[in-house]
Amino acid sequence: MLLDGIGESGQSSLRRSSVLLVGCGALGSTIAELLTRAGVGRLVLVDRDLVELTNLQRQVLFDETDAREGLPKAVAAARRLGQINTQVTLEPVVADFNAANAVQLARDVDVILDGTDNFETRYLLNDVAVKLGKPYIYGGAVGTRGMVYVYAPGRSCLRCVFDEPTGGTRETCDTVGVLGPAASIIASFESAEAIKLLTANAAALNPKLLTLDVWANTMRAIDVGVPDPECPCCCQHRFDYLEGSRRAATTSLCGRNAVQIVTAHAGENIDLAPLADRLAAHGAVSRNPYLLRVELRERDHDYQLTLFPDGRAIVHGTADPAVAKSLYSRYIGL
Ligand SMILES: [Zn+2]
Repeated sequence: MLLDGIGESGQSSLRRSSVLLVGCGALGSTIAELLTRAGVGRLVLVDRDLVELTNLQRQVLFDETDAREGLPKAVAAARRLGQINTQVTLEPVVADFNAANAVQLARDVDVILDGTDNFETRYLLNDVAVKLGKPYIYGGAVGTRGMVYVYAPGRSCLRCVFDEPTGGTRETCDTVGVLGPAASIIASFESAEAIKLLTANAAALNPKLLTLDVWANTMRAIDVGVPDPECPCCCQHRFDYLEGSRRAATTSLCGRNAVQIVTAHAGENIDLAPLADRLAAHGAVSRNPYLLRVELRERDHDYQLTLFPDGRAIVHGTADPAVAKSLYSRYIGL
């Protein structure tokens, strides 16, 4: 409240605000913590993954207990955030953010924040933001580098700024990892832009694409220019990612040697108890209120299959969607 530009009115605007954060990994952890401490009113946390030991180097909301319990990141994050500030309404959503639920999750928020690690989801976030006329704060970090850009109605959208992802040729956290501080800095920039938006300080938003490298000690602000009239999204209003034509049913998860599978039945509520009994014949089964896991051994290779009540699964131990699908249909058979 002491800060020029925020004051009591800015603080009460924050208190009334509603934020959608997609992804509770490295970026999402820091963003969620900063916005919770800043006192936003409502924070919707969407994440499809669970906490693992290898996340802890950069995902600052989690600890070894979360990893041991195999908690979904959205649930573990909400638990920790609720201890930090009891006045924030926290809504953890354990789900894949996709074309089927994107509009519903984004409809009544004031700003959309990017905590994801892949361009598939970012273009979907961009589609939703443009379609609903909401600001979207993009952030990405890989290796020792990162980028931040704020889309707001009338500005160039993410598809104006970046070419289509060229699958495989981009560096990802799969191939080069990510330095914790690089992710935290990017997340801090995203949070600062969100606070400006939520306190009626849009004039202070960074109009440029910010890029930095904490190893090379460089920081640049790149002018992105006006919206591209050829842009399929913000100028031609074609929402390829939201309309589902660009969406994959299986996704290799970044840096995880794991594949996510979303079936056509996704969204159904599956009773995990009988499934747990059946799977126990094939390997060690563990359960918590949010998921079921089974350890499988096939041809001297160890896999771990995690199933959520909405029918979604994550297959650990392979990055090959074909292998993952085959395991899924053999053991779950939905
Ligand atoms: Zn555009």
